[in-house]
Amino acid sequence: MNHANYRGRLAPSPTGYLHLGHARTFWVAQERARARGGTLILRNDDLDSTRYQMEFVGAMLEDLRWFGFAWSEGPDVGGRFAPYDQSERMDFYRAALETLRAGNFIYPCTCSRKDIQAATRAPHANDDDEPIYPGTCRQNRKSEIGNRKCSWRFRVPDGETVSFADANFGGERFLAGKDFGDFVVWRGDGVPAYQLACVVDDAAMQITEVVRGADLLVSTARQILLYRALGLAAPDFFHCELMRDDTGQRLAKRHDALSLRQLRAHGESPENLRRRWTRKD
Ligand code: GLU
Ligand code: ZN
Repeated sequence: MNHANYRGRLAPSPTGYLHLGHARTFWVAQERARARGGTLILRNDDLDSTRYQMEFVGAMLEDLRWFGFAWSEGPDVGGRFAPYDQSERMDFYRAALETLRAGNFIYPCTCSRKDIQAATRAPHANDDDEPIYPGTCRQNRKSEIGNRKCSWRFRVPDGETVSFADANFGGERFLAGKDFGDFVVWRGDGVPAYQLACVVDDAAMQITEVVRGADLLVSTARQILLYRALGLAAPDFFHCELMRDDTGQRLAKRHDALSLRQLRAHGESPENLRRRWTRKD
């Protein structure tokens, strides 16, 4: 790959204040783009309307800038692939859903609301990755469902190993049907799931390398299947080790004391915070 063509992204969800764990992963993303003379994109993953709160979008941009992030395409600055707010990109997701339906890669599912609600969020470790779907609705046809509300699930190729070379961890392998099952690509209430929205946007925005937390490794396997089904080329992947608190728990948005907001309010400087990471690593 021509290095000047490197395109990386930061893709925060405005569901709470950003914390040091996000900042560290994003910092790796920014450094990798910088080292390659590439472009860094900011995408606002705001599809989760139930948890999404307007106030967090502004805070997110402000906290990122304070910490030292700079992007050349994004919701606030525009760019070739605008819009950069997922809530404004529904047409892209609908088109992808149509492609999946036409190719018979997905089926309508009328199972419990709980699994389906969870689908918009990326399955980070603390949320526990979704249980393997037993395949109850695999034989469903849209004609039988009629106008009943349904979500759409991707039928994974049971027994197939999905492998990829992670730029940080090396060879990764996941077994479809065992490490992950049929996953939701579209919710019954009309909201695209994280897996689909992420693939559609990373492809449309010509992202060449996705940098994100190691808790999304299994999701990468799911997404590789989606790229294939949609006839799209998958980017490269670099998964970062997760940041943990003193008790070994993964940092989450509920660790308020470690939110960038709080740290800033307590007079911490981004330089100092970054120095601390390098000391611990
Ligand atoms: N918005 C997603 C999240 O915050 C992005 C995950 C990813 O980088 O793919 O979890
Ligand atoms: Zn079902």
